[in-house]
Amino acid sequence: MPELPEVETVARQLAPALTGRRVVAVQVFDAKIKPSALEPLIGRTITAVRRIGKQVGIGFSQPGIPEAGPWLCIHLRMTGRLAWAPDCRQPPVAPLRVRFRLDRGALLFHDTRRFGTLTLYPTLRDATPAGIDPTGRAFTPARLAAWLAQSASPIKVWLMRQDRLVGLGNIYVSEALHRAGIHPARPARSLSFDEAARLHKALRLILRSAIRCGGTTIFNFENAVGAAGQFQRRLRVYGREGDPCARCRTPIQRLVQQQRSTFFCPTCQH
Ligand SMILES: [Zn+2]
Repeated sequence: MPELPEVETVARQLAPALTGRRVVAVQVFDAKIKPSALEPLIGRTITAVRRIGKQVGIGFSQPGIPEAGPWLCIHLRMTGRLAWAPDCRQPPVAPLRVRFRLDRGALLFHDTRRFGTLTLYPTLRDATPAGIDPTGRAFTPARLAAWLAQSASPIKVWLMRQDRLVGLGNIYVSEALHRAGIHPARPARSLSFDEAARLHKALRLILRSAIRCGGTTIFNFENAVGAAGQFQRRLRVYGREGDPCARCRTPIQRLVQQQRSTFFCPTCQH
């Protein structure tokens, strides 16, 4: 499932092609999606494209109030893919679920497994999830330490909850804990301030680096131009059970937390 860096990559790629474009028609090719839910977008102009949590957010103008229009949030889930196409008249080919015909080209939403969702919010504030973005300025070592002090959950599980830090998933959490040298099963509140600060730094570093690489492709992530991410080459623990740790050569181990695999080095992570 695409995590924060993959969604950021897609949003950044789409922004130049979509910003300033007007929606001429919306064509829905999937009975799971109600065409009437997307009809309010017809005639509106796209004013912004950005990542909102783990979703791609598309902002629209409101007559007379350019910055206050509705926001369409697209959650890609397992196999969702957004792409801009220069020609909006080509016949639809499966797994195309929605085509937004624009005054120039079209925005296509492909989704083989059809788990992706499209949600229309009245404003950006409504579209923005609770919690803070781990790449934003509001995320500080002090804030992380204060949060962790209140929780007995294993640190890995805590990082994946979406109501404090938004957008973190299995891959980058495993990698950040390895960089920070923190065992994934440690109770959140057992981390010292220095460890919380190290984890904060590791999360920022991993996310920045993954965004620079265009995300990670394990199974089927493709960005808006149909290319794979490149960060999978830099993964040190995720998916590497039995491989030697990049730092100490101890074989990487796997454990299951809340039905999700966690990968870690038993020597480097305490
Ligand atoms: Zn190690």
